[in-house]
Amino acid sequence: MSDSQSGSFRDQKHYDAIIIGSGPAGYTAGIYTSRANLGTLIISGTLPGGQLMTTSDVENYPGFPNGIFGPELMMNMRQQAERFGAVIVDDEVIKVDFKKRPFTITTHAETYTAEATLVCTGASPRKLGIPAEQQFSGRGVSYCATCDGPFFKGENIVVVGGGDTAMEEATFLTKFGKSVRVVHRRDFLRASKILQQKALENPKIEFIWNNVVADIRGNNKISTVLIKDINTGKEKTIETGGLFVAIGHEPNTVIFKGQLELDDKGYVVLKQHTKTSVEGVFAAGDVHDHRYRQAVTAAGFGCMAAIDVEKWLSERKHS
Ligand code: NAP
Repeated sequence: MSDSQSGSFRDQKHYDAIIIGSGPAGYTAGIYTSRANLGTLIISGTLPGGQLMTTSDVENYPGFPNGIFGPELMMNMRQQAERFGAVIVDDEVIKVDFKKRPFTITTHAETYTAEATLVCTGASPRKLGIPAEQQFSGRGVSYCATCDGPFFKGENIVVVGGGDTAMEEATFLTKFGKSVRVVHRRDFLRASKILQQKALENPKIEFIWNNVVADIRGNNKISTVLIKDINTGKEKTIETGGLFVAIGHEPNTVIFKGQLELDDKGYVVLKQHTKTSVEGVFAAGDVHDHRYRQAVTAAGFGCMAAIDVEKWLSERKHS
């Protein structure tokens, strides 16, 4: 549990609004609900602050002309939510019961109840699953070209993947990199025709088919990757200053299976505005949005969900 529990709702077990997740969507929702005087609990999850805690400079979040460190931005959002009385616990939700109201939310340490719940658990980039990946994460290995591309000016860049994201990122990265190589495990792409064509016709992009990244090497920072042909087993070292892993995302929705309607990829389905399939449960950010996936869009969705919660609670009170 966090030492940062604060506000007049401290130690309560029942809240007007419980927010699950603490990325830009969760904290923004918390700023809005607590400022609207709703008893608010934010349960931060295993990585308080979310994906931005693992990035360095954030250059595209409005309001910071010189950029801001991801962790600093998230600490600011956290403090802003606490300022209005949101209680924040650094714990992980292991079970929810949305079948009856008030909703029950169980963490490792406690069981809470809520009139309304906001699901802001985000998504995690799929990992290659090789040992050196973690070691070089933030040291040349990135999972978001929009976020990190400009840091790789003049570098030889490698992109892994054959879907829409990989094609879009490879094309985007040609603006910065000296060269862009796409390493894909098949000899065809699953990306939409239009994005494929754009990438295939781009003279700065080279495709390396039927290959996987087997190792990442370097001292403090990435300098080479070892790729392996999946048909012949032949290995080759390529020099690179940046490896972009674009092999999809996994929404963090395991605990909502059987409780909320999820799509075939596991993302929360929104019914109207930010409302989910369960009345009183709202969702915001990457947990339902696999298209934009930006800190600023997640924050925007968090604001929208909080306004929807406030409206929904007040309508119930007056009905
Ligand atoms: P995706 O469609 O699931 O594609 C993932 C790619 O990564 C596939 O080519 C897959 O290979 C490869 N891959 C998966 N695991 C791998 C591993 N362990 N090692 C190596 N390669 C691996 O994911 P996405 O490209 O992120 O797209 C997600 C969704 O967002 C899609 O519905 C997409 O259409 C949508 N999206 C749309 C746009 C747009 O319309 N502008 C942009 C981005 C994303 P295989 O092909 O062999 O399975």
